[in-house]
Amino acid sequence: TGRQAPRRLSIFGSTGSIGKNTIDVVDHLGGPENFEISALTGNENIALLADQARALRPALVVTASDSQYEALKSALAGSGIAVAAGQTGLMEAADLEAEWVMAAIVGTAGLAPTLAAARKGADIALANKECLVSAGGLFVDSVRRGGGKLLPVDSEHNAIFQVLEENQRHAVERIILTASGGPFRNSSIEEMANVTVETARAHPNWSMGLKISIDSASMFNKALEMIEAKHLFGLSPEQIEVIVHPQSVIHSMVGYTDGSVLAQLGAPDMRTAIGYALAHPLRPNLPIERLDFAKLSRLDFEAPDEKRFPALRLARLAMVRDGVQGAVLNAAKEVALEAFIEGRLSFLSMADVTETVMDQLAGLPAASSMDDVFAVDKEARQRAAGLIN
Ligand code: NAD
Ligand code: MG
Repeated sequence: TGRQAPRRLSIFGSTGSIGKNTIDVVDHLGGPENFEISALTGNENIALLADQARALRPALVVTASDSQYEALKSALAGSGIAVAAGQTGLMEAADLEAEWVMAAIVGTAGLAPTLAAARKGADIALANKECLVSAGGLFVDSVRRGGGKLLPVDSEHNAIFQVLEENQRHAVERIILTASGGPFRNSSIEEMANVTVETARAHPNWSMGLKISIDSASMFNKALEMIEAKHLFGLSPEQIEVIVHPQSVIHSMVGYTDGSVLAQLGAPDMRTAIGYALAHPLRPNLPIERLDFAKLSRLDFEAPDEKRFPALRLARLAMVRDGVQGAVLNAAKEVALEAFIEGRLSFLSMADVTETVMDQLAGLPAASSMDDVFAVDKEARQRAAGLIN
């Protein structure tokens, strides 16, 4: 049999932590021999984006930042690679043919381009959990109607995806999301009141982008992941558990009706999840650190403390209330997080702001279109900003 045509990929958010890991996985799996890149997108880091473009020769490179258009254009002058910018540029990227799209833009900014790529029928490797938290069922439906697969990249959801056999879905009793506990796992609430961005971003096990690192410290990341899991796996809130597991070796678990619990384990390295999403239903060969159980010697578990980490309670509240509370939680949290990063809000106040906006907007009906989602997102942002100022 002859060689297969290279698979066509796009990487949204290629300059971020997940984006760079994705390019590394693509390189390990044969690079340009096996893959053809349709689009790469980044934001302000033009030097890196241009380097990636020269190496991977995509059809189109996009900076999300309109003001960086000229810089990107001149960085790639003479390369023959098309350049675009801003929201229209991102939508152009989404409109290119691709069989597989890595959705790794951070935050709600990733929603519109990812949704557009899904509607066109690409398989969506989803790192951008905000798509599911905000748009939930609408997003899942869009992927399904487009005809592509939804491949979870978030390590917890990828772990569940790995151990959840399609023909055993009826027997799933619960899922157990593991959480490292972050840098403040053992801190008192008094200590947490005054933490800085520098201490909050220092994740003990994973190396990630700034926002998700701080969300891990507040456990808002786990809150988003609970809502993400609900939509991905069609579960009810009571079926979603969280356990603190400081070593981050078990990436999550599925409990079945016969009492069995299946877990996926590995070194904390996002390339495992990315590679699984790329090679699915096969498994790639990747140079990930192998677990040495004798060296590990033990795995620890503890119940999460919802007093110090109210984000977990807010996730449950959002799931029980349903409607558009996921979008509200995510939008209010993003505004609060931005304010924390800029030194305008304390660490613990992020949850207070989020909860207040959630209460104010409780009872809104489920979104029937993406316009509803964007309207709620905007309203929640305005209210959160108003509370902070
Ligand atoms: P990051 O901050 O390292 O990278 C973000 C990417 O998005 C960059 O390419 C950046 O240029 C781009 N970007 C930033 N603002 C943008 C905007 N307004 N419009 C368009 N593009 C923009 O973030 P990350 O850690 O790689 O995370 C990316 C996504 O993956 C997030 O949704 C995060 O929650 C999720 N995720 C990350 C990890 C991880 O290990 N880093 C794990 C699980 C899930
Ligand atoms: Mg995760």
